[in-house]
Amino acid sequence: MKKATRLVVALAVALAVGAPEARAALRVVTSTEDLAAIVREVGGDRVEVEALAKGYQDPHFVEAKPSFILKLHAADLLVVVGRELEIGWLPPLITQSRNAKVQVGADGYLDASLTARILEIPTGQVTRAMGDVHPMGNPHYWLGPDNGRRIAAAVRDKLTQLSRGDADYFASRYADFDRRLTEAEARWKAALAPYAGLKVVTYHRSWPNFADVFGLDVMGYVEPKPGIPPSPSHTLELMEEMKRQGVQLILVEPYFDLKTPDAIARETGAKVLVMLPSVGGEKDVKTYFDLFDYDVNLLVSAIKETGAR
Ligand SMILES: [Zn+2]
Repeated sequence: MKKATRLVVALAVALAVGAPEARAALRVVTSTEDLAAIVREVGGDRVEVEALAKGYQDPHFVEAKPSFILKLHAADLLVVVGRELEIGWLPPLITQSRNAKVQVGADGYLDASLTARILEIPTGQVTRAMGDVHPMGNPHYWLGPDNGRRIAAAVRDKLTQLSRGDADYFASRYADFDRRLTEAEARWKAALAPYAGLKVVTYHRSWPNFADVFGLDVMGYVEPKPGIPPSPSHTLELMEEMKRQGVQLILVEPYFDLKTPDAIARETGAKVLVMLPSVGGEKDVKTYFDLFDYDVNLLVSAIKETGAR
């Protein structure tokens, strides 16, 4: 054989040998960066993950972009938060993607809320007519690490269903995530344990799962109802109650106007704290672990600074 021919043969052999390794990764699209972070933990190099909403955006109200439709069109799996969190923007995009795999109810559609622990489920008849954007229970459930574990387990099962040959890989990645999460949870709980029962006000009802796990007492909200902007009468009542109970901290999501929280802080002597409800809320917050590290550290520093109890 000529030298060039030998090279081509050698390359062909190398490619053929390499071929079984180079299996196509599953293309996963998630509605939020939190879900993407968890899919990355479980899916490793067998998935390519992209989130639609950015972590610094209000996940209830995301401006739909044409690129979202292209991403959905090419996806093998779509993972959503559910409980109507994305109802204001995602459903038409799923339809317009014309991708049968990721339509609601298809094999490539995973509603992570179905196996999560959901708080604030309304009793009796509830509609969105009153403007409440949480009619199916609280959709910010990923802010409890116990739910991070439940989401990861649902992702493991779904990825396994879509790629049977990788079952062991996903199972071992999940087990490793679970182990690291258990360790981290103990660390976060220990950091906040001295302040159990701490009274706080939050802007939106983003934090019931976080508060439940870490022992905060959320005594009021800047919004009169989830999704309804602050009103003067509600703000006055809230300030009275904060003064009465000695509340020192107002937790605000990064996408809300600070005007009302700042006014409340001036009137009551409380401190405004911009807490991140999502991975990607700041550029250094890249993993599910980073998110809790960031929020727990911020909270502990603020408690120490204000002497809040
Ligand atoms: Zn909400």
